[in-house]
Amino acid sequence: MTGRTGGVTAGWWEGRPWRLIQTNLREIDMRDIDAARYVEELRAFDATVAMINTSGIIASYPTRLEFHTPSAFLQGDGLETIIEACHAADIRVIARMDFSKVRRPLFERHPEWAYRRSDGEIVDEHGDVHVCPSGAYQQECASRIVEETIATLDVDGVFLNMAGFQTRDYAGRYHGICHCTACAEGFEAAFGLPLPEAEDLEDPAFRRYVAFKRHVLRGLDERIHGTIRRIRLDIAIDRSFEDGRGFVRQESNTALDRREDWPYSGSENTKWVVSSFPAMVSSNSSVDFIDYPVRHVAVSPYRQQLRLVEGIANGGGLDYYVIGRLDGHADRSGFDAVREIFRYHARHEREYADLRPCATTALVTGPFGNIEEFRGWFRVLTEQHVVFDTLVVDAFGGGVPERFRALILPDLQALSDGPAGAIDAFVRRGGALLATGRTGFRDEGYEPRDRPALESLGVERVRAVRDDVRGAYLVIDGREGFGRLGLTDLVFLDGPYVDAEYREAAVRRMRLVLPGPFGPPERVVLGHATDDPGLVVHAFGEGRAVYIPWLPGTLVHRHGHPNSAAFAADVLEHHAGIEPLGGNLPPMVETTLLERTDRSARLLHLINHSGHFGASYVAPIPIRDLEVELPTEGEPSGVAGLVAGRSYAWSANDGRLSISVPELGLFEAMRIELG
Ligand SMILES: [Zn+2]
Repeated sequence: MTGRTGGVTAGWWEGRPWRLIQTNLREIDMRDIDAARYVEELRAFDATVAMINTSGIIASYPTRLEFHTPSAFLQGDGLETIIEACHAADIRVIARMDFSKVRRPLFERHPEWAYRRSDGEIVDEHGDVHVCPSGAYQQECASRIVEETIATLDVDGVFLNMAGFQTRDYAGRYHGICHCTACAEGFEAAFGLPLPEAEDLEDPAFRRYVAFKRHVLRGLDERIHGTIRRIRLDIAIDRSFEDGRGFVRQESNTALDRREDWPYSGSENTKWVVSSFPAMVSSNSSVDFIDYPVRHVAVSPYRQQLRLVEGIANGGGLDYYVIGRLDGHADRSGFDAVREIFRYHARHEREYADLRPCATTALVTGPFGNIEEFRGWFRVLTEQHVVFDTLVVDAFGGGVPERFRALILPDLQALSDGPAGAIDAFVRRGGALLATGRTGFRDEGYEPRDRPALESLGVERVRAVRDDVRGAYLVIDGREGFGRLGLTDLVFLDGPYVDAEYREAAVRRMRLVLPGPFGPPERVVLGHATDDPGLVVHAFGEGRAVYIPWLPGTLVHRHGHPNSAAFAADVLEHHAGIEPLGGNLPPMVETTLLERTDRSARLLHLINHSGHFGASYVAPIPIRDLEVELPTEGEPSGVAGLVAGRSYAWSANDGRLSISVPELGLFEAMRIELG
């Protein structure tokens, strides 16, 4: 199973089909668990990886460590037997460990381990007491538990649940920044300051605290990951960013108090991992249940299918998470739908091996990112059928990757000098940059900069970031490049507007109209038109930067009005020169494009989102007579639909490949054979 690549032993997970099922085993599940039945259920899903709870809050095997609380329910088959049965069925096993809490009796022996609110109180949920990453339990005991687990059990991977500084309990109650002695002393020693009370990025003390947390967690990762590697090199580690291998586990989930409905969560979670960390497996889980308080009832099976398909369509693995065991599960309404996608992947697993993203446009994300602005642009790119990847800005250490022709920075405020220089160099060499809002106005520690980090934007000086523009508009004073806005003279804005001076070479488009009276109706008039622009295009070296001094992505994300979406689409296509796919795909069809690493084929996915409206996810409506057109180098030798199990009619002219899809169900994956 293991081979060698470039002198480094390839891990078992590299190149292996990844279909993970997490059975989040409760203590009582171990009372009568049957290894054969457990494996049989996994096989019914075509799973290749299982995640099993082993350690941390509860030891699900006989432990010898006095700081590891043993389970009182180990009457069923033991983990050794279960893991052996999994291996016999060619299913790898990842150990799930959780060091975020200890049982109350352990806390009473070591009260110094606990998380402390600012009033000194602990958080105790049903006898599980929150502990702090700064304290000795996580700093010292955790790695010894990891060591015992992987020395005792023949597991293949390690996942640490709820790693990091937790500020909420399972009910969602917010308890604030930890004020334990280890945190207070560590922060004082590093910065000579008392701990901040509130999580406010405008407070310099809180910005230091963010750096403090990062430092503590990096040390903890080094210790635990180092322990694992010292004992066994063949273990896949979650979030092992220090060597860029292992896997990255995330979740697509819902929450009772969350109003936002984000249909592209599977794509969003997968894209940044696959593009930024090509050697890591993206394992984005479809969480079966509704929320922590509602762990026994499932979300829509159609929603789960979309999440899973978005994962594989972007080059990730499959991952499905249920509370407890699969056998005896109270709500089985998601099982068939999930099995269908897992089975599809099993049938075509060779088609999904050795793939890599190949977009030439990247939507850039990073620490402190503006999630609304990011998601608004994500939506516009998706609905306009631009093939794009997302990239973590820190991945630009060695420059912007060669394959990209355009970058989009959606109000990405925190930008360090290294990536900023790499982005300017990218534009100078001929790249296109689209940036919005306050991009580069702060450094990597979120400290305000004197001037924006990106020279290519053409911003000479920022006079102010105005927060008084509700009711303001932008007048389209020249029609060129605004074809989608043909029937309106105005684009509306809300939220911040960056009032800046620009270099002389910068071309200013549109004019800001300040808010006029908007009530009573008798007095409603447009306000005063200024010379301040709504869009600035700056030629820089061989390339160009397009700067939008406000946040259209946020408006698209919040409201979805065509006024904002059409503006954003026009800027992408006509000002930044980012070409969408052609054809007649409706906005509710998502497209992704991957290529084989040997360039022998490309895999084009179409995902049908027509079953999603309002908060509901139902069966998608079949969409008929679709045409999709994409650039191609030379003629392909064939186009095969993996879902339909048939080949599709195509034609190639002038470097454009056009494919006819008579009917699209939930999704299709088209293998375009090259040469
Ligand atoms: Zn603490």
